[in-house]
Amino acid sequence: MHEDCLFCKIVRKDINAKEVLRDEHVVAFHDLNPQAPTHVLVIPTVHAEHLSEFAAQGNAAAADRLLSAAAEIGKQFGPNGYRVVINEGRDAGQSVFHLHAHVLAGRPLGWPPG
Ligand code: AMP
Ligand code: ZN
Repeated sequence: MHEDCLFCKIVRKDINAKEVLRDEHVVAFHDLNPQAPTHVLVIPTVHAEHLSEFAAQGNAAAADRLLSAAAEIGKQFGPNGYRVVINEGRDAGQSVFHLHAHVLAGRPLGWPPG
């Protein structure tokens, strides 16, 4: 846990989020600034700045759950399709430095992304 991390505060329930799922490994909640009719963030309960750090730490059970939770939410909110995105670093536009997977659904999604 990181005292000043925004998403650790959501894990601790120090700040509120519109949660859709919570268990030992992950918390999922609606994005404050949605980019699609459904825009849910799935975060590990353990703090890692980004995907490569999380993967290097060997969080196998949490990594498995992050993916399965993203798929569950995608299927639930995007019966016609959904997209899972993880941004890492400046070029990708990462703005919160606690790993999160975006689950986007509810409209046709353009490709390639911007
Ligand atoms: P990224 O740019 O990939 O780091 O994504 C960070 C996401 O977190 C953005 O889509 C923000 O809209 C979202 N966000 C920031 N603060 C909050 C919050 N308190 N609750 C929900 N979503 C948030
Ligand atoms: Zn954190």
